[in-house]
Amino acid sequence: QKLPVTILVPSNFHDHAVDRIERTFSPVRIERADPALVTDEVRSKVRGIASFAGISAAFMDALPNLEIIASFGVGYDSIDARHAAEHGIMVTNTPDVLTEEVADTALGLLINTIRDLPRAETWLRDGSWERNGDYPLSRLTLRGRKAGIFGMGRIGLAIARRLEAFGLPVAYHNRRRVEGLSYEHHETLKGLAEAVDTLISVAPGGASTAKAVNAEILSALGPNGVFINIGRGSTVDEEALAAALANGTIAAAGLDVFANEPNVPPALLAASNATLLPHVGSASEHTRRAMADLCVDNLVSWFTARKPLTPVPETVQVKARA
Ligand code: NDP
Repeated sequence: QKLPVTILVPSNFHDHAVDRIERTFSPVRIERADPALVTDEVRSKVRGIASFAGISAAFMDALPNLEIIASFGVGYDSIDARHAAEHGIMVTNTPDVLTEEVADTALGLLINTIRDLPRAETWLRDGSWERNGDYPLSRLTLRGRKAGIFGMGRIGLAIARRLEAFGLPVAYHNRRRVEGLSYEHHETLKGLAEAVDTLISVAPGGASTAKAVNAEILSALGPNGVFINIGRGSTVDEEALAAALANGTIAAAGLDVFANEPNVPPALLAASNATLLPHVGSASEHTRRAMADLCVDNLVSWFTARKPLTPVPETVQVKARA
């Protein structure tokens, strides 16, 4: 049944989500979430946003009847959720449905980084195996490593369970110790980096983690150190990381996320000891469809029952406007 509600969909969006929004609501599309593109009609009609892209405070202010922003993805650092909360706007994200997929990707990236598998495949495909013989032995191994997780939340825990199955001891750093978890907790990221040789970041973006992985942390990780980032690029000082890879401060890095996507710093592209992925953590058809469904289910639940399914912590208290 179609609801008499206009939903704004800025930028490109997931086809299945667009299809469901078209069947359930009245959608309007604009090229990007830019206040300059808001027409009078959009301004007066829009009550909800479904978005993959970031939503600024200024964009919210341009839509006086906005009630909810249903974000596609679990990380919502590109949405000003505090501003939304202050203005009675609900923000939802898509947790849990992507957790296992992202953890799978993290382990794949870790193994590719340590055992050099992407380059080994290139060796086979370009004929080097036939011409030159066996691919050189990998310099690094997962054996004997100790893993540290920066951001032991839903995905961090799913990564930790996999690492345990691989036989690796696990430690972590969060601002708060996780109740009932037996993994070693470190009060500081530096303490964690000193205690492990394999640091996996799955912390959210935002001010509290900005450039948290800096030269000091990389140096604490040490020359056998491997750094994996499946969280957000903003948590890393990319210049310091490129330098650490170039001068042997750490051994290798595997990165799925970058500070200014899709631009990857040339110094990281040039690093032969870096394995780079184009932000594919959750990017399977299966998981993206589940995220699309949860994104739209949040809109449907809000506009039928006034109850979001997965509100972000900042807006849990936001009530429907009368
Ligand atoms: P959760 O909220 O469940 O976990 C986040 C964890 O990070 C919490 O345990 C939190 O603990 C910790 N944390 C937050 N801020 C800090 C801080 N300043 N210092 C130390 N620890 C901190 O989120 P998820 O596990 O579901 O997702 C994590 C992130 O992964 C997302 O925010 C997103 O950015 C990223 N992601 C990346 C994907 C990809 O495609 N590469 C796909 C999906 C997610 P505490 O509050 O106690 O500090």
